[in-house]
Amino acid sequence: MIGYQLRQREYLLEISRAMTSRLDLPSLLRLILTSAADLVRAEAGVIALRRGRSSALAIHASYGVPVSVLPRFAPLLTDFPLRPEDYAVPDLQARLNLVARAVRLPLNQVIALPLIAHYELSGVIYLFRSGSSAFTENDHAVLSSFADQAAIAVRNAQLYQQVSGEKRQLDAVIQHSADGVMILDPELRIQVFNEALSRLTGWPAEQAIGRPCYQVLALEQMEGDDLCGAEGGEAAFPGGRPLMADGVLLRAGGSRVALSVTYSPLYDDEGRLANVIVNVVDVTRFREAEEMKSTFVSVISHELKTPVALIKGYANTLAREDAHWDEETLREGLQVISEESDRLTALINNLLDASRIQAGGFKLERADVDLPRLAGAVVENWRTQTEKHRFALDFPARFPTVVGDEERLRQVFNNLLSNAIKYSPEGGEVRVGGWRENDEVTVYVADQGIGVPESEQGNLFQRFYRVDSSLRRSTQGAGLGLFLCRTIVEAHGGRIWLRSEAGKGTTVFFTLPLEESLPE
Ligand code: ATP
Ligand code: MG
Repeated sequence: MIGYQLRQREYLLEISRAMTSRLDLPSLLRLILTSAADLVRAEAGVIALRRGRSSALAIHASYGVPVSVLPRFAPLLTDFPLRPEDYAVPDLQARLNLVARAVRLPLNQVIALPLIAHYELSGVIYLFRSGSSAFTENDHAVLSSFADQAAIAVRNAQLYQQVSGEKRQLDAVIQHSADGVMILDPELRIQVFNEALSRLTGWPAEQAIGRPCYQVLALEQMEGDDLCGAEGGEAAFPGGRPLMADGVLLRAGGSRVALSVTYSPLYDDEGRLANVIVNVVDVTRFREAEEMKSTFVSVISHELKTPVALIKGYANTLAREDAHWDEETLREGLQVISEESDRLTALINNLLDASRIQAGGFKLERADVDLPRLAGAVVENWRTQTEKHRFALDFPARFPTVVGDEERLRQVFNNLLSNAIKYSPEGGEVRVGGWRENDEVTVYVADQGIGVPESEQGNLFQRFYRVDSSLRRSTQGAGLGLFLCRTIVEAHGGRIWLRSEAGKGTTVFFTLPLEESLPE
């Protein structure tokens, strides 16, 4: 008997070692159940754990019982006490008889072992025998110390499951956050690097993790407290407050993004810095909008001030009481005032159009338009404004009528001709023409002026964009003409582009689709 008990104790020790090293709950429960059944030579058993905080149990592991009959164990799973001090399964034998009849198995003897850990009653182990030999006092004694260890192992596995579940959730939140997120250790090395940040920076997470953050997130034109700004940066958070920095990141591919970065400290229980959480937001569009606004203000104030100053100057001079102007001076002065007023009106109209487009209130009034006639009329107007330029019209005799907004298309011609003249200060030919091809027409305005350097050609159709050159500084313009042309042409369903060679000249092309004419 002593030898048997000794072996039993060794066996118990072995099991408890195995139990404490297992964190996967299903396999731990299987181990507990088979070992317990083994210890007291039970033929069958189940482990039932509490559902949440209720008094109902659910079976999590079974042994020696077909899984299909487990639902019939319900009588053993209800009215389970909530507190360990109340532990008892009332009418245990009666419940067992109910179950045995329902499952048609010879379950004659039962023993119920509560799982109690940290003053919590978390479930019960039921063991069954088929024969007539009841469970003894010794069985009870062996199993009760076993059950205590099992309860602790179960509780650990449950906690582990809960914690790892929460960690998975948190990881998912970080990984799928729309903003860039990384987590640094106190030495500012990257530990976690999410997908959005990979996209923003162009760094794959596998390559970024483990590196000091200055290698991955070095900002240019930095403003604020940039923790990752330099090698050997130190994580100091005065008052425990987050740090913020704004700057531009040069990406692997050579493109740039404007980023806003927030560094938040995370302290451990002893108040030491444990981690730095870094949030990175792409503020490129916001920056562009800001720049647009300031460009707008500077361009507009300059462009509005010049004609107003001229008008005011001439008006003052002409109005001087002590002076008597001859007729020619008078006419010249008034001419300037009239031209500058026209310029002001045109600028104000362009501005209004540009803001209307931005607000989305841009509507076309469609009708049949005879483009060669329209181009001819616009050219006639410009012919009187310059002596240096020759004008040519180049449309085939049978040019199709397009459906469009005549006033808007006149604006396109006006803007293109204004540019052709303005940007060919030496004069030359300005040619306006077009042709039909399949179901669209192409129209062009060509000059022999200064041209546009290739690097700038893609930008000209943006709002307020002007090529920086000495001529640009000496000519007036808000950089709105081509933007408006593009918007008008695109609203008609067409395309606009230009071909240009610096020093040789520029041709701007646009297409308009040919639809059926409007019904009479
Ligand atoms: P605005 O038309 O508002 O009075 P702008 O003429 O400067 O001002 P856009 O018509 O949009 O603005 O043209 C943008 C820029 O493109 C110009 O500043 C100029 O540098 C360049 N550009 C446009 N057309 C020509 C051209 N025909 N030849 C050379 N450069 C041109
Ligand atoms: Mg222009």
